[in-house]
Amino acid sequence: MFKVQREIITISEEKCTGCGDCIPNCPEGAIQVIDDKARLVSDLMCDGLGACLGHCPEGAITFELREAEPYDEYRVMGSIVKQGENTLRAHLAHLKDHGQTEFYQQALSYLRERGREVTRPGRQTQSRQPWAH
Ligand code: SF4
Repeated sequence: MFKVQREIITISEEKCTGCGDCIPNCPEGAIQVIDDKARLVSDLMCDGLGACLGHCPEGAITFELREAEPYDEYRVMGSIVKQGENTLRAHLAHLKDHGQTEFYQQALSYLRERGREVTRPGRQTQSRQPWAH
C-alpha cells in the first residue's frame, strides 16, 4: 500500500503505564492496551486529529510527522461498528466537530450501505434520527 507523509500519534513505551485512559478518547478505536502498553493498532485508523492527546496523564502520546498509510474511514467504521452505538455516535461527532466532511460522509455511506442509522447525540426522542443533515 502506498504511504503519505502525515502527522500521526506516537506512544512512548517508556512513559505509558497502561492505564487505558486514552482508549475511550480515541473516537476511531485506534488504540488498545496490549502487553500492558497502549499501542496504535493500525496507522490506517489514526486520523491524526489528536483527540487522545490531552487524555494521557503521563504525556505519553505525541504527534510525529512520518510516512504512514493514509487514514481509512471504511476500515475504522468496520472496527468501531462492533463497539456499539455510543462509540459510533462519538466517532461521528468527532468527525463533525473537526470539519472532516469527507470522512463524515464516508462514515454515513458505510452505515447506509448496511441499513443502519445512528441517533444524534443529545436527542431525547425515541425515534431514530439519521445524521445526514
Ligand atoms: S493514557 Fe497514556 S499512560 Fe494510559 S494507556 Fe494511554 S498512553 Fe498509556
